[in-house]
Amino acid sequence: MKKELVCIICPRGCALTVSGENGVYNVTGNSCPRGERYGIDETTHPTRTVTALVRVENRRDTMLSVKTGTPIDKGLIFEWMRLVNGLKVKAPVKAGTVILEDACGAKLVATRDVE
Ligand code: SF4
Repeated sequence: MKKELVCIICPRGCALTVSGENGVYNVTGNSCPRGERYGIDETTHPTRTVTALVRVENRRDTMLSVKTGTPIDKGLIFEWMRLVNGLKVKAPVKAGTVILEDACGAKLVATRDVE
């Protein structure tokens, strides 16, 4: 197996080549160890931090920004979005408040205050 991808960990955007299989992988093109970790993770189990807006039901025209507390499996992003799109919260909410304990395997966390 050989895969080419761009590291998105920092703005440098190194062009990575990941080769190997069965748990043994080799990464080239990375300028730092974070790129090696990213290349292997992206090849074996890609994850993403996802953000969205949730309606605040007791404030007119107000949305609360939320995100995954930890990255979730990339294949679960649409399921996560369907789940989050159906949510409503009540103000006040503080940044860092856990809105859901388990949204596709990760906490759903508020990223700003709504008074
Ligand atoms: S390999 Fe390191 S330097 Fe290159 S883009 Fe990734 S994090 Fe940045």
